[in-house]
Amino acid sequence: MKKMQVIKSPHQMQKLILKIRKKKRIGFVPTMGFLHEGHLELIRCAKKKSDFVVVSIFVNPKQFGPNEDFKKYPRDTKSDLQKLKKLDVDVVFLPTHETMYPVGFQTSIQVTALSKILCGTCRPEHFSGVTTVVMKLFQIVQPHLAFFGQKDFQQLVIIKKMVEDLHLPIKIHCIPIVREQDGLALSSRNAYLSPKEHQWALGLYLGLNQVRQSSRGRHKISVRQALRIFCSMLPKTRSIKIDYVSCVDKDTLAPMKTIIKNKTVMAVAVWIGKTRLIDNIHL
Ligand code: AMP
Repeated sequence: MKKMQVIKSPHQMQKLILKIRKKKRIGFVPTMGFLHEGHLELIRCAKKKSDFVVVSIFVNPKQFGPNEDFKKYPRDTKSDLQKLKKLDVDVVFLPTHETMYPVGFQTSIQVTALSKILCGTCRPEHFSGVTTVVMKLFQIVQPHLAFFGQKDFQQLVIIKKMVEDLHLPIKIHCIPIVREQDGLALSSRNAYLSPKEHQWALGLYLGLNQVRQSSRGRHKISVRQALRIFCSMLPKTRSIKIDYVSCVDKDTLAPMKTIIKNKTVMAVAVWIGKTRLIDNIHL
């Protein structure tokens, strides 16, 4: 097995990749670390489709709001590196905040309208933080292919739009949501949940699944019925608060008036105690 390189400097990363990309197809998986099976599945997919795989680990301060969990976001670089080594990743890009955002940094990338809806309503700066860092990472790693999860559905649509609008020569691949055996979508933030909250959080998956089943039954259901079905599957406790539940077009995020098979996605964000979880399902 060849040695996995760990590179911290953007300049060094760019220098290496400029040499390699002449001969090899570069696949890139951006992450914030604390890797779980969802991340690992993205990397396996990248390994299959490219000749040289770069994974970045960077907890990006720009995508956290002032009262969000940037400081306590779970981190375990040592264990992450072991997992990446086992998957035979070629390079781990592990930049510091100072090299990504040196004093005086002032550029931002915004996909305007798509960033204001759904999660953007209660996290107004979040997606410009995401698109700014992803654009920077794309410039540094210069991949032919980049891999993102359906778990962060709105993020995926926004990144595809950025790639299209800016003519970036990068193919975006998406992988389905990887779930725990009980159905909860894997997320680094699941580490915040107590066992009781974990049980409550299963309501998201049960609700989405129930809506999907109902929408594919003999009788068509309306969007309003879909929302009602989802809410009815959540445990009745004051510790659960719905941020949004929405049926949207899978490509444009436009709200749907009716449910159309393979075109409508139900996307949800729900607070379970102090943890905000997102999930979604293709109807
Ligand atoms: P994060 O580290 O949370 O920024 O996620 C890095 C990448 O992993 C993003 O493209 C996510 O959509 C993807 N991802 C996170 N959780 C999952 C999951 N449960 N299934 C599939 N992909 C995921």
